[in-house]
Amino acid sequence: MAAVGLASLLFAETGQVTTGCYNCMKCSSGCPVSFAADLKTHEVIRLVNLNRLDKLLKSKTIWLCAFCKTCKQRCPNDIDASVVMDWLKSKALADGIAPALPNIPVMYQSFLQSVEKLGRVYEAGWIGTYKIKTKTFTQDIKLGLKMIKRRKIKLLPGRIRNYQEIRKIFACARKNDNIRKGL
Ligand code: SF4
Ligand code: SF4
Repeated sequence: MAAVGLASLLFAETGQVTTGCYNCMKCSSGCPVSFAADLKTHEVIRLVNLNRLDKLLKSKTIWLCAFCKTCKQRCPNDIDASVVMDWLKSKALADGIAPALPNIPVMYQSFLQSVEKLGRVYEAGWIGTYKIKTKTFTQDIKLGLKMIKRRKIKLLPGRIRNYQEIRKIFACARKNDNIRKGL
């Protein structure tokens, strides 16, 4: 891959022009997960431009990104770092790189399973599946009980009227993904 290979690939697949980055750090200073990140947002963009895919795919930051888009709003060059993070997550999974924070992809998968089945997320089922898969049964238990008491979490599942339409969207996304991968 040439020196600008990763930035070019990202531009082709996401439309993000990372090479315009000033390294001004406005993105990092507004990022709500920056305190826990091993790479700050501006460093992710810098590493893209330096073609350091190896380092990026092993970072915690790509999994921590909450997709809040504060970085995009603050960026003087309209770079959407959340889209870059998302692309890097997909790339890590496609390349078989073990996620630096393995519970986070499990949380995403459990969430999507719930939405595919019912057309909306069923919080108790989602969290239950996540906890079984990650064996984190007691983590946040006090908070969970408090939320149930305040009726913030419904104990029984409910699905939307046209849930079949949501299943069609999932089937279509899988088909497109297989086409993209040449399967
Ligand atoms: S705010 Fe934009 S220009 Fe500034 S460092 Fe972040 S990505 Fe680069
Ligand atoms: S979208 Fe991600 S990288 Fe950007 S500010 Fe939000 S959490 Fe940080």
